[in-house]
Amino acid sequence: MTECIFCKIGSGEIPAKKIYEDQNTIAFLDIFPSAKGHSLVIPKKHYSTLLDIPEMELKELIQIVQKVGAGIMKATQADGFNILQNNKEAAGQIVPHLHFHIIPRFKDDCLKLSFGSKQGEEKELAHWESQIKKHI
Ligand code: AMP
Ligand code: ZN
Repeated sequence: MTECIFCKIGSGEIPAKKIYEDQNTIAFLDIFPSAKGHSLVIPKKHYSTLLDIPEMELKELIQIVQKVGAGIMKATQADGFNILQNNKEAAGQIVPHLHFHIIPRFKDDCLKLSFGSKQGEEKELAHWESQIKKHI
């Protein structure tokens, strides 16, 4: 996957504003930030989505997300933060290399990351409850 931009950042082939790096993981500032300090945490190894990374590597990665998130909170004096993780184009994934967004949030920042506004119908919710359980 040599054409992957995040692989190239991971290997140091192209520059990024790196805020954390270890053997398997790297975190850097997003070039189109939604807020000051908006960063991305990626495994250096190429995995397209959350479904592709082995469990042990994901455990390590999410621990780094926590560590970097804490650092970003302190550095930016944020009031909170969102973790965003897009999988596949339909979900808004533009770069097909697994990454976690860490987006610092500030009181009254008016950033909109919205979810459904209408309560689900009981029958429909019950249907998906039973269907999804079968596949886990
Ligand atoms: P996603 O929609 O989850 O795939 O988001 C990809 C993110 O990567 C976007 O927020 C981009 O601004 C960011 N991005 C793309 N290229 C770079 C780059 N070279 N350095 C830093 N961030 C990047
Ligand atoms: Zn990659």
